[in-house]
Amino acid sequence: MKKKKIGIQVLGCDKNTVDSEYLAGLLHKKGVNVSLVEGSVEKYDAIVVFSCGFINEARRESISAIQSLVSQRDSLTRRPRIIVAGCMPQVFLSELQRKFPDVDAFVGIVDINTLVRIIQAVAQEKISTPITYIHSAPEVRIDRPIKRRPLQRRHYSFLRIADGCDHRCTFCIIPKIKGHYRSVPREVLIAEAEQLVSKGIKEINVIAQDITRYGEDIYGSEYGLVELLKQLANIPGEFWIRLLYCYPTRITGELIKLIANEPKICPYLDIPLQHLDEDILRAMGRPYSWERTKKLIRRLRRAIPDITVRSTFIVGFPGETEERFQRLKQRLQELTLGRVGFFLYSDEKGTKANALPGKVPRRIARRRLNELARLQAGIARSIHQRWVGSIKEVLVEAHFPRTKLYLGRSQSEAPEIDGFICFTSSRRLKPGDKVNVHIDRADAYELFGHIV
Ligand code: SF4
Repeated sequence: MKKKKIGIQVLGCDKNTVDSEYLAGLLHKKGVNVSLVEGSVEKYDAIVVFSCGFINEARRESISAIQSLVSQRDSLTRRPRIIVAGCMPQVFLSELQRKFPDVDAFVGIVDINTLVRIIQAVAQEKISTPITYIHSAPEVRIDRPIKRRPLQRRHYSFLRIADGCDHRCTFCIIPKIKGHYRSVPREVLIAEAEQLVSKGIKEINVIAQDITRYGEDIYGSEYGLVELLKQLANIPGEFWIRLLYCYPTRITGELIKLIANEPKICPYLDIPLQHLDEDILRAMGRPYSWERTKKLIRRLRRAIPDITVRSTFIVGFPGETEERFQRLKQRLQELTLGRVGFFLYSDEKGTKANALPGKVPRRIARRRLNELARLQAGIARSIHQRWVGSIKEVLVEAHFPRTKLYLGRSQSEAPEIDGFICFTSSRRLKPGDKVNVHIDRADAYELFGHIV
């Protein structure tokens, strides 16, 4: 029987990337030819879209991606099956069914092996479609190592140590989409990380909705993020470990000490703070104060002088008066964080925040976001200026053909969300190499240099 050809399209966050690599690994093991969707869709027997649904903008992106696939397919004689998986069907099924009656399957947050079975049955036309497969409780557990199959040639990867969330931020629907916090057993994670390193991965980005809660649900206080990181760092090989999605109130002295002393762990921490005004933080259901935030950042900088702190902020949350916005702005100036992302508040139906008074008109929220982005560009530029003349270890990511120009990242730039280091090299390099680069020039989001 001719090998089935499955195309995968990944939208949304790095957790979807991990799911797509699990799926590709399992389908490949079953003899399926699996790749990222590229070019005409006519060559596929089926296409799987890993959708995203956590905010309005992400849903719009998912809908337009599905629409584009459906339109392409409609003009073909040989019509691949379309399967929409992931976060959006889990909570927005009826909207999707109304918009896309011709989609063959809608599958929510389910066990990855179940997803494989559904995809195979649909691709082999063994079941009549359309079908929907949604679990009321999105309780997915990864309890044994799965041979991941990266769909893109890269030298960094994501290690998802848990999924779901037990925090109850008033603006967020992720707990509704992904369910309760579930840690992946340590032996599964170590085996997965060993697999990644053996495949030449030079940077492991540790992710979850909140990595600092790792292990509590399965090991209690016996074994947590610190213990896991120590085991990861013991894996032989030359690779970086980067920590993303840390919850501000859960960064312990032990964790800070480990980051300071373990050379494999990047002096980099992503701590989504969401806002810096206490009234707004309270309305967001985020239990920490400005004083506590300042203290945390000071403590990190004292223990790890070259640390890069990344954070994200929501602008235009209900009740964000001009005065509270100015406080956010002034405190952002005071913190001088290295890397910052800004999101416009997304008014999600069914959330507590959706029922709050004092909605901020979009025009004003957008004006505020632009003001903060300008401020942050200035802060980033002044931080980068201080690096001019220094030497940075850089992971080579790309080469501009027929030039001596390369792109890479140091321990201070996370993949896909931070900027790059652009540098020249007289000797030929390949992606995945680690080299030392002298920083000659800097601007807000890029650094420029030459190899030494
Ligand atoms: S920590 Fe808050 S914002 Fe993050 S996923 Fe959980 S509920 Fe959502």
